[in-house]
Amino acid sequence: MLKNIDPQKISLKEWSRQFRLLDDSEIRRFKYYNNDEWGIYLSPPATFMVYGARELRKLKLDNSLAALRLWGFALNESERLFRARQSGKHIIATMGDLGTVPVIAMAFPDCIPFYPDCTWWTPFFNESTVLLDKASELGTPEASCFVRSTLAAFHKMAYFPKPDILFASTGASCDDYSCIMQMVEDMGFELNWLEIPFRRKKQDHFTDEKYARTPQGLDYPERFETYLINEYKHVWQRMQDLTNDGDPEKLGESIKKNNRLRRLVDQIKALTHGAKIAPFPALEMMVIEFGNLYGYADIDEWIDILEMVKSKIIDRVKSGNGVLDSDAIPLAWITPTADPLLLNIVEDLGGRVVATEYVINQALSEIEEDIDPFRALARSFMNASLIGSTEERIRHISAGVDSGRIAGVIITNMLGCSHCAMETRAIEKRLKNVPILAIDIPAPLGITEQIRTRIAAFIEMLK
Ligand code: SF4
Repeated sequence: MLKNIDPQKISLKEWSRQFRLLDDSEIRRFKYYNNDEWGIYLSPPATFMVYGARELRKLKLDNSLAALRLWGFALNESERLFRARQSGKHIIATMGDLGTVPVIAMAFPDCIPFYPDCTWWTPFFNESTVLLDKASELGTPEASCFVRSTLAAFHKMAYFPKPDILFASTGASCDDYSCIMQMVEDMGFELNWLEIPFRRKKQDHFTDEKYARTPQGLDYPERFETYLINEYKHVWQRMQDLTNDGDPEKLGESIKKNNRLRRLVDQIKALTHGAKIAPFPALEMMVIEFGNLYGYADIDEWIDILEMVKSKIIDRVKSGNGVLDSDAIPLAWITPTADPLLLNIVEDLGGRVVATEYVINQALSEIEEDIDPFRALARSFMNASLIGSTEERIRHISAGVDSGRIAGVIITNMLGCSHCAMETRAIEKRLKNVPILAIDIPAPLGITEQIRTRIAAFIEMLK
């Protein structure tokens, strides 16, 4: 049992020792797709290092059972997708919109959405350039985003099963990603494109245009709702063709389930970021935020894991315990880091993440439940991070700076990314009242002493 241990971040070796304290019955209690035979996913995190996630040996992970479940489940996704295929489920690739199309896919029986673009992290977890090298061979320039590893994953077809259907967003999406998807299409995969509009602001020369506002206060031309509704209905139709099914009521149920997840994550973030001592590490928190995209291919189990995480965090907050020092410097993090190690390093050097802008605002916003479900999806998507201006994207970070809650900002910028690299300077210009450190994330195994020294100096300066 892992009940009475003090919270801390521990190495793989320590996790392996601690894992022995778990009863067999406890290990068997947790399973994906509720399958007793092959759905068990709890194992010492070192197992995943042996399977290929070599960077784990450098990372320190939270020592709670809740975190063990979180890691076991997130790292087991590839196996889970292949199991899903073997057991007759449909594999639905949803790309680029980061959070909305999966809500539609989950309304169909035995349909498992996932994001091939999340292969972005694989070269870093695996400390391997195999995918990036293959992507170069396939024609992507080195000076482009690590998302090109997705192209190699489609070529190799070893990281996820061949999807039954592929949806990809274009329009106001990132160029690097969009080019990669076009190359995937050139490889012979049939892509169903949907277009996402740019959320442009009211302008004088469009005075007749009727505007609407999201609950988060973002303005957009109202006709974009109708436009997106048509795009989502097209997705619905393709899903109906695939499954010979399609009950609109199920879409309402899927929205409710996704809202439950989104509310849970919101509570976890508020508890963690608002606590006097950080009760949960930033790395695990990033994994939690990204789970909103599709529940790591089993949303029911993922929600159950997060309920446990939330209880653990509440316990820690109540007892005044946490995983970092009480004087850790509160930071905002803008754009997720491709290399997870960086989150550990920043905490080791005295930082603490209390606000994030990980380009997935659309997956964090609740979806209205009392209007037409397609309209509700369209309206929630209008909160998206990357479809509007830089000011809009970082407004909650600006508010945190103005309130004095954020002492410094870290922006991670992936080497070669056009989209991220261009926006970094624009963000720096707009966040004038707070010290900012912008870091180019190098290729796998590329974090140098120089990067550590820059972070150490930044945090020292803030202190
Ligand atoms: S990391 Fe930046 S450049 Fe790469 S796919 Fe995401 S938004 Fe685009």
